[in-house]
Amino acid sequence: MGTIRENLRQVTGLLPAGVRLVAVSKFHPASSIEEAYAEGQRIFGESHVQELQAKQPVLPKDIEWHFIGHLQTNKVRFIVPYVSMIEAVDSIRLLREINRQAERCGRTVDVLLELHIAEEETKYGLTLDDCRQLLADGEWRAMPYVRICGLMMMASYVDDEEQIRNEMMTAANFFDEVKAAYFADADYFCERSWGMSHDFPIACQCRSTLVRVGSAIFGERVY
Ligand SMILES: *Cc1c(COP(=O)(O)O)cnc(C)c1O
Repeated sequence: MGTIRENLRQVTGLLPAGVRLVAVSKFHPASSIEEAYAEGQRIFGESHVQELQAKQPVLPKDIEWHFIGHLQTNKVRFIVPYVSMIEAVDSIRLLREINRQAERCGRTVDVLLELHIAEEETKYGLTLDDCRQLLADGEWRAMPYVRICGLMMMASYVDDEEQIRNEMMTAANFFDEVKAAYFADADYFCERSWGMSHDFPIACQCRSTLVRVGSAIFGERVY
C-alpha cells in the first residue's frame, strides 16, 4: 500500500477516457479526503448520512459528494441540500422523498437507479423486472426535482472474473434497454456506475462511466 497520493495516481492511471473516479472515503478521516483533494480529486463517495454530515461542512465546497449507500427516506432531507448525486435509489418511495425534499430546497438532484444483479442476497437494489416496473409505472415522470441519470450496481464479491464480467455486462445491456425505452433524447441519462477496488479494471471493460474505489486508495477501513 502506498500513500494516498500514490494510490490515487495508480488508480486514475488505469481509467480510460470517459470513466470518472468516485473516491470512496467512508470510514476515513477528513484529512485523507484533503490529501486526495490536493491531488485534484473532486468526486467523493460516502455511504452513511451521519458521517457525510460531519465531513461536508469542514471540507472544500467544490467537492461533489455522491451518496452511494442505502438511504433511508427519513434521512433524505439532511443530504439533499448539498449532495450532487444519490447513487443507490432502489424504490419509488425513496425517489418520491428525494423529489419532495429537493423541491423544498429549490434544486434538482441527480440520481441513479440501483440494480440488484449479484447473487448475494444481502445486497439492496431493484431486480431488472422491478426496475422495468418502476419505469413503466411512470410516476417518476411527474417528479421534476429528480433527474434519473443512469444505473448503479455492485457485482458479486467473488474471484471469478467471468461472473463479475457477466453481471456487469447484464447491467450494461439493461442500460441500453432503458435508454432506448425512456431516455433516448435525454443526454443526461449516461451514467453506469460499477467497479470497486477489486473489480474496477473489469468494470472499465464493461462500459462503466463511474468507478467507486475506496480501499485501493485510502487503505483498509477500520470500522
Ligand atoms: C464501500 C463501497 C465501495 C468501495 O469499496 P472498496 O472495495 O473499498 O473499493 C463502492 N461502492 C459501494 C456502494 C460501497 O459501499
